[in-house]
Amino acid sequence: TDWVKDKTVLVTAAGQGIGRATALTFAARGAKVVATDINETALSELEGSAGIETRRLDVLKDMDVQTVVAETGPVDVLFNGAGFVHAGSILDMKDEDFDFAVDLNVRSMIRTIRAVLPAMLERGGGAIINMASVASSMKGVPNRFVYTTTKAAVIGLTKAVAADFVAQNIRCNAICPGTVESPSLQDRLRAQGDYEAARAAFIARQPIGRIGTPEEIADLAVHLANATYTTGQAYAIDGGWTI
Ligand code: NAD
Repeated sequence: TDWVKDKTVLVTAAGQGIGRATALTFAARGAKVVATDINETALSELEGSAGIETRRLDVLKDMDVQTVVAETGPVDVLFNGAGFVHAGSILDMKDEDFDFAVDLNVRSMIRTIRAVLPAMLERGGGAIINMASVASSMKGVPNRFVYTTTKAAVIGLTKAVAADFVAQNIRCNAICPGTVESPSLQDRLRAQGDYEAARAAFIARQPIGRIGTPEEIADLAVHLANATYTTGQAYAIDGGWTI
C-alpha cells in the first residue's frame, strides 16, 4: 500500500539535486508536497508542478522553520535535505567552518524535527528522513573532516529520535548516499582544477562504476516513508562503496 498517498510531505533543500528529485517523486506518488529552499529562483522551477507547493525556507532560522510549519499544518513526512560539504582535513578547518556545518547539517534537522513532531505525535505517527552520507560514522573519506563529523551526528540524532518515539509510531531513518549527481557535486568537481580527472576519481569510488542519480535517492526516500517496519536505520545507497 502506498502510505504516502495524500500525505503532507515537507522537503528542505528542494531547489536542486536530491531534494528536488525527492519533492517530484513524492508528488508523483500522490503526496501533497511543500517544497522549500533558500534559493527562490531554483524553487520557482517547481512551481506549477502537480502536487507541489513552494515556500522559501532558510533552515538556519528557527523562526522561519516555525512559520513554515505553522502555515503547512500537520506534516506526515519530513525530508531533511539541507547539507553542505566542507573540503579539507582537520588541519584545513577554521572554527567558523565547523560551526557553520553543525548549524546547517545538524541543527537544521533539530529545528525542523522539533517543529513538526508535536503534531505528528498528536496525529498518531509520521516519518522523518534525514540526509546523511556514506561519509559519516559509516566511512572515513579523505578531505571531508567537517562533513564526515557532522553527517555522523545526523546518524546519531536519527537513532536518538527513533528510540525516543518508536512506541508512538514515529519512524526516523537516515539515507547515506555515495556520490550523487547534483549541482553542488559539479561545483566540487570544478573546484578540483582538472574536471575530467576529478570526475573519474569520484566515479572510481563506486564499484558499480558510475555516479548515482538524484532520482535513485528519491526512490529510497519514498520507500522509507512507506516502509512501516523500519526505524532508526542508516541506509547506504552508494553503488557498492561500502561493500
Ligand atoms: P545540493 O548541494 O546541490 O543542493 C543543496 C540545496 O540546499 C540547494 O538548493 C541550496 O539552496 C539549499 N540550501 C543551502 N542552504 C540552505 C538553507 N540554509 N536553508 C534551506 N536550503 C538551503 O544538493 P545535493 O548534492 O543533492 O545534496 C542534498 C543532500 O544530500 C545534502 O544533505 C548532502 O550533504 C547529501 N548528500 C549528497 C551527496 C552527493 O554526492 N550529491 C552525497 C551524500 C549526501
